[in-house]
Amino acid sequence: MAFDYDLISIGGGSGGIGTLNRAGMYGAKGLVIERDSVLGGTCVNRGCVPKKAMWYGASLSHALHDAVDYGFDVTVGDFNWGAFVEKREAYISNINNAYATYLGKNNVEFTHGHATFDGPNTILIDGDRKVTAERIIIAPGGVPVMPDIPGIEHAMDSDGFFELTEQPGKALVVGAGYIAVELAGLLQALGTDTTLAIRHDMFLRDFDDMLSSQLMDAMTQDDVTMAKQFTTASLEKKSDGIYATSESGQTIGPFDTVLMAIGRKPATEGLGLENIGLETDAKGYIAVDEWQETKVKNVFALGDVTGQAELTPVAIAAGRRLSDRIYNGQTGRKMDYSNIATVVFSHPPIGTVGMSEQEARKEYGDDVKIYSSTFTPMYEAFTQHKVKTSMKLIVVGKDERIVGCHMIGRDSDEMLQGFAVAIRMGANKSDFDDTIAIHPTSGEELVTMR
Ligand code: FAD
Ligand code: NDP
Repeated sequence: MAFDYDLISIGGGSGGIGTLNRAGMYGAKGLVIERDSVLGGTCVNRGCVPKKAMWYGASLSHALHDAVDYGFDVTVGDFNWGAFVEKREAYISNINNAYATYLGKNNVEFTHGHATFDGPNTILIDGDRKVTAERIIIAPGGVPVMPDIPGIEHAMDSDGFFELTEQPGKALVVGAGYIAVELAGLLQALGTDTTLAIRHDMFLRDFDDMLSSQLMDAMTQDDVTMAKQFTTASLEKKSDGIYATSESGQTIGPFDTVLMAIGRKPATEGLGLENIGLETDAKGYIAVDEWQETKVKNVFALGDVTGQAELTPVAIAAGRRLSDRIYNGQTGRKMDYSNIATVVFSHPPIGTVGMSEQEARKEYGDDVKIYSSTFTPMYEAFTQHKVKTSMKLIVVGKDERIVGCHMIGRDSDEMLQGFAVAIRMGANKSDFDDTIAIHPTSGEELVTMR
C-alpha cells in the first residue's frame, strides 16, 4: 500500500520535531501535525525557554543587590514585568519561526490541527482531513494537572503563569516539584511576595536530601514563606484576595495569584488510541519498549507521553535515535535512560546525575561511600547575601565507581554537564582525583574531595 508519508508525528514539540528533522535528513518524507498555532511545544512556548529567561532575570536581581557589596553605586529599582514579557515572547516567536524553517530545510511538512488515529496508519486532522503514513510517532507531551477542589477556578497552572502580563504582588505557589520551586524562587527574586505550600516538611523529596534541604534553607533565607504540611483543600475569593484552606483547616491569604504546580499528565485525550487498540497504563502513559515501540506495529511513542524522564533533551534524543535506527540503518541505536543529568533552575540552582544517597544506600548498602563538601564560593566572600555551595559524590565498591553526583550552588547548572560525561563513561573517584583542578573555581572542589 502506498502511503502519503513515510513518517508522521503527532505533536510538534521537542520529541516530534527532533524525530522528524533527523528522519528528513535521511530522506524520509515526513509530516508534523501540531494543534498549537506555532511549533516548539511545551519547552519552547510554556516551559524551559520562558522559564529560563525569567530565571536569568531573577538571577540578575540577586546580582544587582550583590553589586552594591562589590562597590557599585547602584540603586535597585522595580522590575518591569510587562516589558520583559514582551521581549521574552518576541524571542520565543523567533524560535517558532526558526523551527518551521529548519523543518522545511529537511523537507518535513508541518500542518496545524488536532490529530486523531483513524487506523494504525491513518490520522484524521481536525476530524476531516485524512493522511496516511508507513510509521507514526505519538509525541503529544503532557498537560498540567489541576486538583479537583472547591474554588480551583481562582487558580492558574504553569501555562497560565506564562500568560501573565502583569507581575503578581502576592502569590501562592502550590506544589513540591521542579516547577513549584523554580517559579516560586524566580517570583520572589523579581519582587513578588511569595508563599510556597507543600504537603510535607520538604519539597523535591525524590532528590538527594542534601539538595532539597539546602534549597529549603536558601529559599527561606530569601524570604519565600513556607507553608509546610499544608495540603490545599479549597480556595476562596474574597474582596481582598484569594484565601487557601488546608485539609487540617488552616487558612492562608490573601493572595492575588494562586499557581498550582502539582504535576503533569500525558496528553492522550482525543488521540483516538481506542481506534488502534492501544491502551494506556494505570497512570495514563503510553507504554513502550526499549525501541520506543508501542504494542501496535509501526506506531511509536516518545517524550512526556511515555512518562520516561520528562525532559526536553530526553524526548529529542529518543526521537533522533529512533530515526537513526529506522532511516539510517544504525541497528541497535536506542535511548539509554540511565544517568540522565538534570538541573533545577532554582535560586541557587541544583545539578544532579545518578543515584541519590538514599537510593544508593538502598541498592548497595554498606558498599556506599560518600564524599561531600560545603563551602562559601569566593563570589560570596564579598556579599552580604551568602549562599552556600554543597557537592556530593556517591561511590560504590573497592574501585569507588561514581554512581551519583549532586551539587547545589552558584553555577551548578553549568558545571554538571561535563561531569555527567565522565560518570556516563564509568568514572571512578580516582579518575576525578587524577584530574587537575581549575583554580579558582567551584568545580575544582569535585576533583579535590577527601
Ligand atoms: P511537548 O513539548 O509538550 O510537545 C507536544 C506537542 O504536541 C505540543 O505542542 C502539543 O500541542 C501537541 N499535541 C498534543 N496533542 C496533540 C494532538 N492530538 N494533535 C496535534 N498536536 C498535539 N525540560 C527540560 O529539559 N529543562 C527545563 O528547564 C524544563 N523546564 C520546564 C518548565 C515547565 C514549566 C514545564 C511545564 C516543563 C519543563 N520541562 C523542562 C519539560 C519539557 O518541556 C518537556 O519534557 C518536553 O517539552 C517534552 O517534549 P514532548 O515532545 O514530549 O512534548
Ligand atoms: P513534579 O512531578 O516534579 O512534582 C509535583 C509534586 O507536587 C509532587 O511530587 C508532589 O510532591 C506535589 N503534589 C502532588 N499532588 C499535590 C497536591 N494535590 N497538592 C500539593 N502538592 C502536590 O511536577 P512538576 O509539575 O513540578 O513538573 C513536571 C515535570 O516537568 C518534572 O517532573 C520534570 O520532569 C519536568 N520539568 C523539568 C524542569 C527542568 O528540567 N528544570 C523544570 C520543570 C519541569 P509531594 O509528594 O512532596 O507533595
